[in-house]
Amino acid sequence: MQNYRISLNDLPPEGREFHLDDQAIWQNSIKEFGMDCRVTKPLSASIYVLPTEGGWLVRGTLTGEVALPCSRCAEDAPAVVNSRFEDFEEQPESDELDSPGVHTPAMPEEDTASRLVFVNNAPMLDLAAICWEELMLALPVTPLCNTTCKGLCPNCGTNLNEGLCACEHEEVDPRMAVLRGLTLHKN
Ligand SMILES: [Zn+2]
Ligand SMILES: [Zn+2]
Repeated sequence: MQNYRISLNDLPPEGREFHLDDQAIWQNSIKEFGMDCRVTKPLSASIYVLPTEGGWLVRGTLTGEVALPCSRCAEDAPAVVNSRFEDFEEQPESDELDSPGVHTPAMPEEDTASRLVFVNNAPMLDLAAICWEELMLALPVTPLCNTTCKGLCPNCGTNLNEGLCACEHEEVDPRMAVLRGLTLHKN
């Protein structure tokens, strides 16, 4: 895949906007992490990077559509991606950059550390890493094919959206629901 690292030292003072629509940026990560996620409308990102006091402002949008497995029935659950994001990449202290070569700053930066990399002490921003992180943040935690999805029969696995199976389905009795809740908590 093409390298999407940009040199932060070479940015003009007014910043620069980057457009990314190479599907490999997302497809490679989907494959790498073995994610059950299918791109149904091409993903596209615009990222604006502005040098500011002590670091860089990173602002952008991500659009497209993916299909995830429904958390109740495992059929396709479409997820429209239409997100805006704004982050700040902090410029590390210069004394942290005395060793040559490629390394990431030794900063307690949790999940954003991989965005900023150093090549021969020059700060580079990995736009592909940003595209991937922003997609992960934009996806629903519990995808649903439909808010009324009935899910699968716990007995036989029939997709109850397509019709009832032969299993007995309990009437929903509020008193029973309370008892079921108690049973669950014992585990
Ligand atoms: Zn479903
Ligand atoms: Zn059944």
